Amino acid sequence: MRARFSLTEFRGRQEIVLNHMLGGRSGLMVMPTGGGKSLLYQLWAARGEGLVLVLSPLVSLMQDQSDQARQMGLRATCLNATVSRDERQQRLRAVARGEIDLLFVTPERFRQEEFREVIKARRPVLLAVDEAHCISAWGHDFRPDYTRLGEIREFLANPQTIALTATATPQVQKEILKELRISDGFCEVDSIERPELALNVHECYGLDEKIRAVVGLRFQNPGAVLVYGSLISTLHKVADELGRMGLEPMIYHGQLRGGDRKRLLREFQASPDAFMLATPAFGLGINKPDIRAVIHLELPLAIESYFQEVGRAGRDGQPAAGHLLYDSDDATIQMDFIKWGNPDAGFVASVYRLIANNPQRVAQEGADYLREQLNFYNKRDFRVETSLNLLEKWGCLKPAQNRLGFEAEREPTSEDLAQLKTEQRLRVQNTKLHQMLDWAQKTDECRMVRIQQYFGETPSADCGRCDACASKLKNS
Ligand code: ADP
Ligand code: MG
Repeated sequence: MRARFSLTEFRGRQEIVLNHMLGGRSGLMVMPTGGGKSLLYQLWAARGEGLVLVLSPLVSLMQDQSDQARQMGLRATCLNATVSRDERQQRLRAVARGEIDLLFVTPERFRQEEFREVIKARRPVLLAVDEAHCISAWGHDFRPDYTRLGEIREFLANPQTIALTATATPQVQKEILKELRISDGFCEVDSIERPELALNVHECYGLDEKIRAVVGLRFQNPGAVLVYGSLISTLHKVADELGRMGLEPMIYHGQLRGGDRKRLLREFQASPDAFMLATPAFGLGINKPDIRAVIHLELPLAIESYFQEVGRAGRDGQPAAGHLLYDSDDATIQMDFIKWGNPDAGFVASVYRLIANNPQRVAQEGADYLREQLNFYNKRDFRVETSLNLLEKWGCLKPAQNRLGFEAEREPTSEDLAQLKTEQRLRVQNTKLHQMLDWAQKTDECRMVRIQQYFGETPSADCGRCDACASKLKNS
């Protein structure tokens, strides 16, 4: 660690976890964003004893992390759809020849036969699952592929595994270990308290008022500011208004092309006064230490996602703020969002039948055809995508060669459909939304303390920085 990373001391539970790992154990580490979770797999790769495979949920994140590891002198690379086919082939050959110690991929990679063969033959010495909460934040982050990690681990002959996340309630911690099929795993949890973060909620009525609030907050925060909104159309509306006031924010979302994404990411990382509007997936795991404020245009779906997102501010330990712009109408929209993320058995079955009965149309038009037939155009309605992923996971569909389409394999059975547990999941997600709502509405208790309690901690003092603490101070 000294020689390679110029670091002299461990932070938090890094050393404890490394000792578990040296003892051959698998398990979970929960450590705040920016705490230093990556060091664990980086050190493992630096030992040069074999391939360390890191599963990451997002492409932007992988590129960043593999670049960083290379700067540290590690033989690292990543495989994803943004690099050319040739380049991918080359990298995969390098993996096969044993020239790579640290490889970043998304779980989707495991759908590819060639990759599966190479990786299986190389037998990773460590499997690291980054942002492991995506396993159970299924409906929110929309990473259905994370539900396959147990299978993937088994396919790799159960290598030693370390799961990493910044946010997991005690219940989610258990779920992660269970889903990864890790028995007798360790579970090390660092306090999530962030002494540099001041959390604030501003009640707003309508988008115009929110935009005015963003302008005001931008002028109060001249450093790097990240604004989150879940709809691309909202981001554009906000950007247009801000443009009229002479502010020129960057916009980042999942529908941008790979090249644009890379460029924006680089600009954002490099600029100390970056002003970025983005969908919440942006920033997951990105290492920009000097973000001074994170502004939310809408109520997030759960305290987990909120804290994960707001936690991207102030990683350098310098004062930073979170500002949640909350409109009481937000909750209704978010409730619809939850509904759309969770198709019921009837819906999934009709997606299958459409594919089985119309193979040609599906091959040509892919998911667009299905959306059209099922008659909905709402961009936030993900039921078709969710259904496709489920059907594929059950073995009812296989992806067609051209990537767009799907081919029917077999009818989903009643056992398949019973796994959906739609009602139960809706209940869980609605409960989380209500906890989030309750957190936003309640103004007489320290905001940080309430988040800590949500994650199973019993803090001894208020933060003294949030809006609730500030108004307490004023009134006393
Ligand atoms: P995260 O837990 O969010 O994944 P990272 O692993 O990206 O955090 O680490 C954030 C920063 O902390 C990096 O710049 C890393 O070099 C630094 N860091 C990690 N461990 C230590 C340590 N023991 N001492 C000092 N800096 C560290
Ligand atoms: Mg990380």
